[in-house]
Amino acid sequence: MVAENLRQVEERICQACARAGRSRSEVTLIAVSKTKPVSMIEELLPLGTRDFGENKVQELCEKYEVLPRDIRWHLIGHLQRNKVKYVVGKACLIHSVDSLRLAQAISQEGEKQGVLVPVLVEVNVAGEESKFGVTWEETENLVEEMARLPHISVRGLMTIAPFVADPEENRSVFGKLKKLYVDIREKNIDNVAMNVLSMGMTNDYEVAIEEGATMVRVGTGIFGERNYAR
Ligand SMILES: *Cc1c(COP(=O)(O)O)cnc(C)c1O
Repeated sequence: MVAENLRQVEERICQACARAGRSRSEVTLIAVSKTKPVSMIEELLPLGTRDFGENKVQELCEKYEVLPRDIRWHLIGHLQRNKVKYVVGKACLIHSVDSLRLAQAISQEGEKQGVLVPVLVEVNVAGEESKFGVTWEETENLVEEMARLPHISVRGLMTIAPFVADPEENRSVFGKLKKLYVDIREKNIDNVAMNVLSMGMTNDYEVAIEEGATMVRVGTGIFGERNYAR
């Protein structure tokens, strides 16, 4: 089932790329495996999937321990400063940096471990109360401040768009983030790469690709519905 779901998602990604005149190679599919067992991840490994997303540090660490080391783990959920030490060195990319204090803690841990930590800044584009992320207005300033931290490498922006019935409703959200990303990239800030735009989930990843996403995070569409009542 998981393999067939992946095949369908892959096909839809290719079609969205074609509609947007983009190459499939510009978009990385992150299989969001949160709450799902290791056995389901293992089903995807022979098919070539290596990018997996988790939203909890503990779950990422548990899966990291038992699965092959060539998997690229993406931390996509909110990160507390006291958990930074567990995830630095394990996640290939932290998508959810939303404050300078968190960025400082990550840089300090990077220094301790002797690594440069790739991160994205999470932007709450739609200004939803319930969501983490910095505002559109705060983003550029935070990127500039983070650029001065020695053990962090700012790679781009991430957003979680609102939950909507029709994915078209999120097109303007994705378009806004793309514009911000290009604006910041054009500033050529030292130590800032700006080549990752992480946006789009099961409900809206095709629209996100049409609007310029370079990473889409798909959970339900690959692994099926999550059951939190365990
Ligand atoms: C759970 C989650 C996803 C995947 O959501 P689906 O709707 O199941 O595709 C993507 N991004 C983040 C940040 C998530 O927490």
